[in-house]
Amino acid sequence: MKKHLQFSVKALNSFNIQAIAPKIFFPTSLVELTELANKHFTHFYVLGEGSNTLFCDEKTPVLIKPSFKGIELTEDNDSFYVKVACAENWHDFVEYCVNKKIYGIENLALIPGSAGAAPVQNVGAYGVEVGDFIDKVSWFDFSQQALVNYSNAQCKFSYRDSIFKQKLNGRGVITHVYFKFPKIWHPIISYQGLSCLPPPVSAQDIMQKVIQLRQEKLPDPKVLANAGSFFKNPMVTNACFKALQQKYPAMPFYPQSNGNVKLAAGWLIEQAGLKGFKEGDVGVHEKQALVLINYADALGQDIVKLAKHVQQQVMKQFNVQLQAEVRFITQQGEVDSASVGKG
Ligand code: NAP
Repeated sequence: MKKHLQFSVKALNSFNIQAIAPKIFFPTSLVELTELANKHFTHFYVLGEGSNTLFCDEKTPVLIKPSFKGIELTEDNDSFYVKVACAENWHDFVEYCVNKKIYGIENLALIPGSAGAAPVQNVGAYGVEVGDFIDKVSWFDFSQQALVNYSNAQCKFSYRDSIFKQKLNGRGVITHVYFKFPKIWHPIISYQGLSCLPPPVSAQDIMQKVIQLRQEKLPDPKVLANAGSFFKNPMVTNACFKALQQKYPAMPFYPQSNGNVKLAAGWLIEQAGLKGFKEGDVGVHEKQALVLINYADALGQDIVKLAKHVQQQVMKQFNVQLQAEVRFITQQGEVDSASVGKG
C-alpha cells in the first residue's frame, strides 16, 4: 500500500496549513483496509480532500486517505442508481450526473471535497442535501474488519450531520456511496439567486447558476486558502428568535419543521462587525463572513484563535453560540472545537 512517513500535509488541506503527519496511508482495497485495521492505531483521522479540516497542531495523528476510484451506473424504469467510490471528486461527480441527464444534486455543484466525505456531514446547499439522494453507504468497519452497508435511514442524516460524524467517528472508512435518483425530477429553486431563473428551468441551468453564484461569493481555495463555511447556521428556539427579532427586525430567519428557527451565521458575523476583519495572516472573508481565510503562512492555532474571537463577538452581541462546521484535528485526533485553543 502506498504510504509516507513524516509527510507534510500542506497540499492536502484547503486551509493550506503546514503540519506533519507521522504516517499517511493511501488504501485502495479491502485487503489494505484490513491491514490498517490490524495496526490498531490509538489516534487516526480519515482524510478526504481536506476541504473541511483544520489541522490545529504542528503534528497530525496518523492519516488514512482512502483512494478508491470509479463510478458505476445502472437504471430501471423509475430510477438511476449510481455507485461512486470515495476518492472521486464531488464536483466532478455532480457534473458527471448532470451530463448523463441524471438529476437531483445539481444544487450541490462546486462544493469542494470528495464523494466519500459528502455523507459524513450531509453536505448541503441551495435547498438540497446529499442525504436526499443517498440509497446506502458502504462502510469498512475496523473492529469487524468487514464492509457494512448503512441504509439511508441508518445513516441518520440531519443538518450537516450523520452517524459517520457521531457514533461511527474514528471507527472505519466510507469506501463507496450509492445514490438513487428518481427519473421524475423536480427543480429546487427556492433559494435567492435560483428563483430568478426563467422557466422552463433545466438541471444544467441550475448547475451553471450555482457555479456562478459560488464563484462570485466564495473565495477559490487555490487563491485564498479556506475551508468553506466555517460555522454552521445556528438553530434557536422560537422564543429566542422572537426576542432577537424585536431587537434586529432585518435579521434573516428560516423556520424549521420542529418549531426552531435557523439563523444565518454569516449575517450574525457581519453584524458583529467582523466581515473583512484581518489580523496577521488570518481573517474573515470580505464578501462572505462565514468563511475564514489563511492569507499566507498561518498556523492552525491562528485560525483557532480567530474562530474563538468570532464566536465570542457573536455571543456578546446576540447571545448565540456558533458551532464550527469545520473539523478540528489535533495530534490526538479529532476534538470538539470548544476544547482547543484555550488561553
Ligand atoms: P445566503 O443566501 O446569504 O443565505 C444565508 C443562509 O441562509 C444560508 O446559509 C442558508 O442556509 C440560509 N438560507 C438562505 N435562503 C434560504 C431558504 N430559502 N431556505 C432556507 N434557508 C435559507 O447564503 P450563501 O451564504 O450565499 O449560501 C448559499 C448556499 O450555499 C447555502 O445553502 C449555503 O449553505 C451553501 N454554502 C455551503 C458552503 C459549504 O462549505 N458547505 C459554503 C458556502 C455556501 P443553509 O446553509 O442551511 O442552506
